[in-house]
Amino acid sequence: MPFDNSFAELPPAFYTRLMPTPLPAPYFVAASDKAAALAGLAPAALRQEDFVAVFSGNQVPLRSQPLSAVYSGHQFGHWAGQLGDGRAILLGQLSGPEGPMELQLKGAGMTPYSRMGDGRAVLRSSIREFLCSEAMAALGIPTTRALMLTGSHQQVVRETIESAAVVTRMAPSFVRFGSFEHWHYRGKQEELRILADYVIHAFYPDLLVAPNPYLELLAEVTRRTARMIAHWQAVGFMHGVMNTDNMSILGITLDYGPFGFMEAFDVDHICNHTDQGGRYSYSNQVPVGHWNCYALANALLPLIQDKEAAEAALDGYIDAYGDKFDELVRAKLGLKTSEEGDRAVADAMFKLMHENRVDFTLFFRRLGELRVDVLDADRAEADAPLRDLFLDRPGFDAWAVDYRARLRRENSEDGARRLAMHGVNPKYILRNYLAQTAIEKAQNGDFSEVGKLLAILERPYDEQPENEAYAALPPDWASHLEVSCSS
Ligand code: AMP
Ligand code: MG
Ligand code: MG
Repeated sequence: MPFDNSFAELPPAFYTRLMPTPLPAPYFVAASDKAAALAGLAPAALRQEDFVAVFSGNQVPLRSQPLSAVYSGHQFGHWAGQLGDGRAILLGQLSGPEGPMELQLKGAGMTPYSRMGDGRAVLRSSIREFLCSEAMAALGIPTTRALMLTGSHQQVVRETIESAAVVTRMAPSFVRFGSFEHWHYRGKQEELRILADYVIHAFYPDLLVAPNPYLELLAEVTRRTARMIAHWQAVGFMHGVMNTDNMSILGITLDYGPFGFMEAFDVDHICNHTDQGGRYSYSNQVPVGHWNCYALANALLPLIQDKEAAEAALDGYIDAYGDKFDELVRAKLGLKTSEEGDRAVADAMFKLMHENRVDFTLFFRRLGELRVDVLDADRAEADAPLRDLFLDRPGFDAWAVDYRARLRRENSEDGARRLAMHGVNPKYILRNYLAQTAIEKAQNGDFSEVGKLLAILERPYDEQPENEAYAALPPDWASHLEVSCSS
């Protein structure tokens, strides 16, 4: 594999060079053909034995320069000091059709940044990261990718004893907000500048001509972060651990741990069992994203050297978020035009969904089936699949009157609207119970469900009649599922 490693050209203080720790008898669990294409790899090759050896860390490709990067960060609002790749090893980058892609082995053994950890990842959480990365990409949400998932019988101790796995993650870069905070908090301006220059040259070359590229970097990362979070809110995705060391400098979703997709809608839902205060609840994701950009701004300030301008750049978050969220919600409602009252229609809808704990995904998918012109007498029956999601039927009926009136004002046509709405409101998302089913089979040596889920989630907007069951509400047993921090 023709690896390069541009990150390895930074001074040695930015990382530690080291080899992955081999795993006993690694085996293939799953691979993403779509991710492989982005890395310029032939999908079939991934299933070969030597690739399994490479992507479990047992064989190091000749031209790669394995390293773990150092970074710091704010965890749950508090300065945590030095963290770093405690279980991830960067191999380098491969050039693909959309540009260079870095490949990183997550769970490849101890590093100087492992602190109390064992450098490993378990099969359970690795399946979740693998599937969610690819599901998010298919939903059109900026994200790191997952190329490959391998496993080993090696035991890893968590709450119970589990087995080890390695996810090969892929992104143009894994630099985080915390990578900048690291140098700022140590008072190392030269390193701070080197890192900022590296990121601008490699990933934001358009900013080079700006009078103050560091200021523009902050402004652009702030906007990208805001738009990424607008996507999360619109699909009901909750990250779970929005610490600044998990915020990508590219504005892509990074580090899938205790994430969750909203099912029964509760604006205050907390997906991470460890997050008792709800700092990273669904509704808090929006202000926390902004807070994280402040942390980045604080770190970049010695380079920007203009506090007022930095504050103005941070203010850009509000509009970037609002504009993107409004755009996404309008599309979710099937609206082609924009009217002043649209916010109110959407707010009333979210309020009703929250009060009735309506399943987020089913609601929007069924909303696409609504017909505008229905006789008053027939409406309850015509709306039944959607209306039955609500306990408060009169509340739903009242909202539907306003919504239909809005659709009529733009002469909305049922067939065209349905098609457009189904193209933005997914039918298939990675519900916890679906992941759990695949995990339990995999823990018993049957990986077929991981592959099957991947195939379904790669086409989230398509009707897949043979997979109707995968769009169903969670079963009762799923209400006991809990996911918590790093595993
Ligand atoms: P996270 O909450 O996943 O963002 O992880 C926070 C920090 O803990 C990062 O520096 C990780 O590399 C590190 N970490 C998490 N799990 C492990 C582990 N099993 N072994 C070593 N380091 C870990
Ligand atoms: Mg992390
Ligand atoms: Mg993590």
